[in-house]
Amino acid sequence: MGLTRKSVGSGIFDNTTIKKSNEYVIALAGNPNVGKSTIFNALTGLNQHTGNWPGKTISGAEGRYSDEFGDKILVDIPGTYSLLAHSAEEEIARNFICFGNTDATIVVCDATCLERNLNLVLQTLEISKNTVVCVNLLDEARRKHINVDLGRLSQSLGVPVVGISARKKHEADKIMQVLNNNILNPKESSPFIVHYEEEIESAIVELEPLVKELVGERINSRWLTLRLLMPDSSLLSECEKYLGFNILADEEFASALEKVLKGLKDRGLDREGIEDSVTASIYAAAERIAGSAVSFTKENPNYADRKIDKILTGKLIGYPIMLLFAGLIFWITIVGANYPSELLSNLFSVFENKINQILLFLNSPEWLRSILVDGMFRVLFWVVAVMLPPMAIFFPLFTLLEDVGYLPRIAYNLDNPFRKCKACGKQALTMCMGFGCNAAGIVGCRIIDSPRERMLAILTNNFVPCNGHLPQQKFGKNQLFLLWRCG
Ligand code: GDP
Repeated sequence: MGLTRKSVGSGIFDNTTIKKSNEYVIALAGNPNVGKSTIFNALTGLNQHTGNWPGKTISGAEGRYSDEFGDKILVDIPGTYSLLAHSAEEEIARNFICFGNTDATIVVCDATCLERNLNLVLQTLEISKNTVVCVNLLDEARRKHINVDLGRLSQSLGVPVVGISARKKHEADKIMQVLNNNILNPKESSPFIVHYEEEIESAIVELEPLVKELVGERINSRWLTLRLLMPDSSLLSECEKYLGFNILADEEFASALEKVLKGLKDRGLDREGIEDSVTASIYAAAERIAGSAVSFTKENPNYADRKIDKILTGKLIGYPIMLLFAGLIFWITIVGANYPSELLSNLFSVFENKINQILLFLNSPEWLRSILVDGMFRVLFWVVAVMLPPMAIFFPLFTLLEDVGYLPRIAYNLDNPFRKCKACGKQALTMCMGFGCNAAGIVGCRIIDSPRERMLAILTNNFVPCNGHLPQQKFGKNQLFLLWRCG
């Protein structure tokens, strides 16, 4: 079945795009960095920025694709690992898949780490059975001796699976062929459903008929019931907007829900416990499915990663290694920055003398010379000479640690102690950044999902002495003295 025509359009999708009767709305979902934008660009001819860093697609871009099956509006939704909505990206993705009136969802997966990607696939299948799974980066997987059995994966998931290498021209068209053949031209499908802990399943069985009665076929009732067991205000308000009524305003349902939640709590499953259990069940299912579909022609490349993990996050040596790295980075930054600082200082002193001479030559009044040279110029050069060199050393070193994958391990190591202070391990990373610059540390707090933990990290980042506060040998011709500098 040939694809006949492609047309392009553009715009940032804002969930209010009106679709015409002969148009299909297709959501393009996936973890960050799996090639969604590459696929989106290949299909729509648009030029969404592609790059190799997580969470790049922050607002859903919209493009059009047409073939003999009709016009499609493709929406590239933000890259997300889960739909449990802890971050803004997860919330947007969940809202769009669930309440965006989509006709189908394409979930793009990275063939080199399928297990992690299946977490999102399984959550999407709970919401929408009109799902196509696209396993991208097959070329990378081959290079790493990873083989993905697409047939078996499709069988396990109960939905169509297509394998591509999006960097190759026209490979992305395969997704549309599968979409046309299976989803827009419907065939009977029974997507894989994750089964949860017994108590949670019983709660679903008890509440689902009531939910179904209220929402009909407008939202998947099993999914909504599960989510109402761990209600969050954003989901409830989106749901209300979509349905036109507040589901919790129904007295019969509200009292049944309250009774079920109390029963679960009595059995040790509070809101957090339910979420942990649900997440664990999804991960276990993803592991099983990936285990049966993925094989390695050589040693699993992830084994090396796991061995490194064991060392870097080990109970005995994880902390000493971390302290060693931190000490080394601070030593390089503090000692190393003195040389360029002194150089810049000497250079600026020469400029200062020259400006003084020019002003004296021009007979400028003392107050003007003092404002211009002793005030403005000296403050400017001190800030540049003091702040620039440590930043130029610290941040590249920090980036290096990120590139070699050590930062997530630091967050993992410190998660426990931070949890004891009601914060999360990711805060350790924003604090580390704060040592370079508090402003950068505070901006970096957006990586923290929970608004409360994010606010905590923002408010406490100021207590981290940024490089402007660090004691260093002060530059100067023949004098060396310690100065507690204020950034
Ligand atoms: P997104 O975050 O999911 O939108 O991912 P992007 O489309 O920005 O892709 C992330 C990186 O993966 C980019 O550098 C792409 O060029 C690269 N990429 C995407 N698809 C493939 C593929 O099939 N093979 C290879 N080798 N690289 C790919």
